[in-house]
Amino acid sequence: MERKLKREVKIGNVAIGGTNPVAVQTMLNVPIKDLAGNAAQAKRVAELGCQILRASVPTLEDVKVIDAIKSVTDIPFVADIHFDYRVALACVEAGADKIRINPGNIGADENVRAVARACNAKNIPIRIGVNGGSLEKEILARYGSPTPEAMVESALYHVRLLEKHDFNNIVISIKSSNVPRMMAAYRLLSEQCDYPLHVGVTEAGTYRMGLIKSGMGIGGLLLDGIGDTIRVSLTDEPEKEVLAGYDILRAAGHTVGGPEIISCPTCGRTNIPVAQIAQEVEEELRRRGFRRSIKVAVMGCVVNGPGEAREADIGSAGGQDEALLFIKGERIRMLRGDIVGQLVDEICKL
Ligand code: SF4
Repeated sequence: MERKLKREVKIGNVAIGGTNPVAVQTMLNVPIKDLAGNAAQAKRVAELGCQILRASVPTLEDVKVIDAIKSVTDIPFVADIHFDYRVALACVEAGADKIRINPGNIGADENVRAVARACNAKNIPIRIGVNGGSLEKEILARYGSPTPEAMVESALYHVRLLEKHDFNNIVISIKSSNVPRMMAAYRLLSEQCDYPLHVGVTEAGTYRMGLIKSGMGIGGLLLDGIGDTIRVSLTDEPEKEVLAGYDILRAAGHTVGGPEIISCPTCGRTNIPVAQIAQEVEEELRRRGFRRSIKVAVMGCVVNGPGEAREADIGSAGGQDEALLFIKGERIRMLRGDIVGQLVDEICKL
């Protein structure tokens, strides 16, 4: 896979674009007035490795959420703003690391100039976020529906409004809840500009469908080399979005810290609770803060297990109430009793 290299943009202490690793981000979903709740959620996603954090800042009064979040984590903070450019200016002043705003939605050109100037002065990027569901009326009328071409035209319209004020520190997203459309839009946009792309499927749905759509949409684009930062959007907790983001990166072949669990689907030959063991191994490694990048196989039988899991660094293959430990394809010894505990101990020793 050849990565489409975009210009580098710095969001606080995280750089995206160029050859920088694809950054995983999420958005807080606690009511914005609940400062302690926002801070606690920010801390939880930070502990899971979230690299960029976003929250809606609807009014001037809500700008204080930035302080609350920054007092518990140093993850770059993105203020999500609609319509009121004064809120954007206040967020820049309060230490936001990036602003998500569409310049075409904030009124007079002098408002755009004020935001562009403030962000330029502090080297703060702006993300333009086009959504297939909220295109400009005039563009929508011309195309008849939110086609990929219409979405790209909308994105480039907002880009030009910023560029007019010598602002080039831009990230773009061009989302839709329709996966084929979203993928086509990102591919088209990627050909037409070199700004880094924030990739996601918007309103992807509840956990199960959201994962499937995001896996396809984000994962498919990553395989095309497109995507500099990703957000999995789920009607669920942001913690799950972060974990899913890393799993999609991993599945797309990106190097991600932490273990990748490979487990067999089980069959009539299985005599050991593979699903439970795999899940417990994953949870225990997370609990121990294991961040090295290795592949762990949990297989149901010794007949095919080690062979099927040839690519794994370490693994277990189930027997009758016992499991064979194998490391780099070599049979090491039988695990009896606490199979999960012993396997995790061996993983940590590698
Ligand atoms: S590894 Fe063994 S138990 Fe698991 S699916 Fe393959 S044959 Fe069945």
